[in-house]
Amino acid sequence: MIGDDSLVIRCLAIETLTITTDNHLMSRPPLLEALSSRALVCDGAMGTQLLARGLTSGECGMLWNLNRPDDVGSVHQAYRAAGCDLITTNSFGGSRFVLEHHSLAGRVAELNRAAAQVARAAAGDNGWVLGDVGPFGDFLEPVGEVTADDLRAAFRDQIAALIAGGADAILVETMSDPAEAAVGVEAARLCDKAIPVIVTYAFQKTAPGEFRTMMGTTAADAMKIAVNAGADIVGANCGTGLSLEDYVELAKQLVATAGKTPVIVQPNGGSPRTENGQTIYDATPGQMAITAQQLLSAGVRIIGGCCGTTPEHLAAMSRAVCVRI
Ligand SMILES: [Zn+2]
Repeated sequence: MIGDDSLVIRCLAIETLTITTDNHLMSRPPLLEALSSRALVCDGAMGTQLLARGLTSGECGMLWNLNRPDDVGSVHQAYRAAGCDLITTNSFGGSRFVLEHHSLAGRVAELNRAAAQVARAAAGDNGWVLGDVGPFGDFLEPVGEVTADDLRAAFRDQIAALIAGGADAILVETMSDPAEAAVGVEAARLCDKAIPVIVTYAFQKTAPGEFRTMMGTTAADAMKIAVNAGADIVGANCGTGLSLEDYVELAKQLVATAGKTPVIVQPNGGSPRTENGQTIYDATPGQMAITAQQLLSAGVRIIGGCCGTTPEHLAAMSRAVCVRI
């Protein structure tokens, strides 16, 4: 409840702690330990922020980790200044399967390590870096031709470099195929048995109150598969055509099947519309803050944003977490 004195006092206590840690008197605890005592805020979209800084469509944004690290770092810093506890490396398309579209498949280690180093420098001592792993962009066997072994090896190369660059946890995100998500978790475990692994799926609404991934997997089944694969935190990001209310309903379904596994939800900035060939996300920071409150009430432990969200949205959501703690 906003305005409750005890909540405000706790909120101030956390701000004081943050000031203390900014002075390097204390650094971040392990992510899962922190999560057991308070809700955390992840960041928002990276791509649109890079486009605003001059990235052209078709250009490989991952090259900016090497060629324009200050621009990538400024996006991370804007999210940290907005109150985000977790920042996500600029490595969504960092597997060799995606990089080979840019003839960069031979530079997986270099580009992912740089992505993590840029994020690590921006995160400071008390911010966590999530090493980002996006979909490999095709289908696994038997629908496609890529074997689970091939994909696991590719993800392993990417994740090893993210960890070498300073990632605190691995985020396997925007997954449609639970089998691909499970391979991502396995690859992370091969690199580091103990590193926290987060899985987020992209859902669409297939009927009133029903959400499925593009591969047809329900929210409950997607959750179970990720948990059984060994993911530490599971949830949803992105999604197709979901309203902010849909994300809250989806969150309730995820929490209901998560058991003790913490749930993360990173909504888009509302349901998008197309105007003059451009995708527009209309949600205001205030609307995102209300959604953040509703997600927390539903039992979500990490909130953040996806497509269309900006540091302004995340600042409003972060304040909503503060008054909820
Ligand atoms: Zn998205």
